[in-house]
Amino acid sequence: MKHYNLVIVGSGAAGLSAAVYAGRYKLSPLVIEGEFGGETSTAGVIENYPGIPAIEGYELMKTMRKQAEGIGAHFLEGWVQEVQQDGTCFVIKTKKDEVRASSVIFATGAKRRHLNLPNEKELTGKGVHYCWTCDGPLYGGKTVAMVGGGDSSVKGVNFLAEYASSIYLIVRGEEVSAEPVNYERMQKLGDKVKVILETEVKEIVGEKKLEKIVLSREYNGSLELSPDALFVEIGFEPDQTFVQQLGLESDPKGYVKTDSRMATNIPGIFVAGDMTNHFGGFKQDVTASALGSVAATSAYEYIKSNPGICVSHD
Ligand SMILES: Cc1cc2nc3c(=O)[nH]c(=O)nc-3n(C[C@H](O)[C@H](O)[C@H](O)COP(=O)(O)OP(=O)(O)OC[C@H]3O[C@@H](n4cnc5c(N)ncnc54)[C@H](O)[C@@H]3O)c2cc1C
Repeated sequence: MKHYNLVIVGSGAAGLSAAVYAGRYKLSPLVIEGEFGGETSTAGVIENYPGIPAIEGYELMKTMRKQAEGIGAHFLEGWVQEVQQDGTCFVIKTKKDEVRASSVIFATGAKRRHLNLPNEKELTGKGVHYCWTCDGPLYGGKTVAMVGGGDSSVKGVNFLAEYASSIYLIVRGEEVSAEPVNYERMQKLGDKVKVILETEVKEIVGEKKLEKIVLSREYNGSLELSPDALFVEIGFEPDQTFVQQLGLESDPKGYVKTDSRMATNIPGIFVAGDMTNHFGGFKQDVTASALGSVAATSAYEYIKSNPGICVSHD
């Protein structure tokens, strides 16, 4: 079984940043990619990554990956299904491959939250969508609705406005909570965007495609809206697979607990990015990248100060 000093699980901003740093520490890390680029690759234009005034998220991730590859990181496509401790080693398994590592960085982000309504699953891709950059362009000249009240949903509305003729933003809370720059951009769209506050989507109706949605309270005298598409942008929750498999300590919301060096309760395992709540819930590319760099540095120090661990089994 091939041995690596360090395996990084995930190739979003956190994983790729960790790979750049680990490459520079000459750890020759292996990145197991899942889906290249993570959430950033479909996040539209990123305008707040310092040093780069505006770049497509996909391009930013491509640049990071190239930089990591150039400095000695290896990449493997696949989804990690299992990680086991074997003495001082970790054994990491995908469907097809199995590798051994002295240290692991998890940078697996978080899973998109769903509304959990009947019909939601059946109509996904048939009017119900979670990725506005991927599916928004399909609705040129149509009416669409966005559920959510945070920055990502407002960014989504601004993106959809380039295609759709009118947009409802359905917000559960009393106000929209977005970056002022993005909020002002949405306000400039005028009547094209109707913000419906203190309202939830209660039902998704449709046979073969989305026909209408039912709201928790009346808007313009009706409980129903008939958008051509419904985009869901209501946040994320961390995946519990590895937390449960390895017994990683997590907070009540499932985010992995770390010390200030991104070390977990299991020696040799570090985490980075959106799967932690390190910056008090502030989750951005710049924070994910920062945490990736810290995790890689800690993994390097761990490997250097424990030279006897996980001797190569090549
Ligand atoms: C719509 C939207 C717009 C955004 N806009 C901005 C913005 O303008 N500016 C900004 O700074 N941030 C923005 N963000 C936030 C930013 O995208 C995230 O903070 C960032 O993606 C977090 O990076 P990450 O590496 O922690 O996680 P992710 O990007 O989620 O990456 C996780 C990686 O882990 C992989 N993975 C998961 N499970 C496994 C497994 N079992 N095996 C192998 N691989 C696995 C995934 O495939 C992926 O590659 C936006 C987010 C969204 C959703």
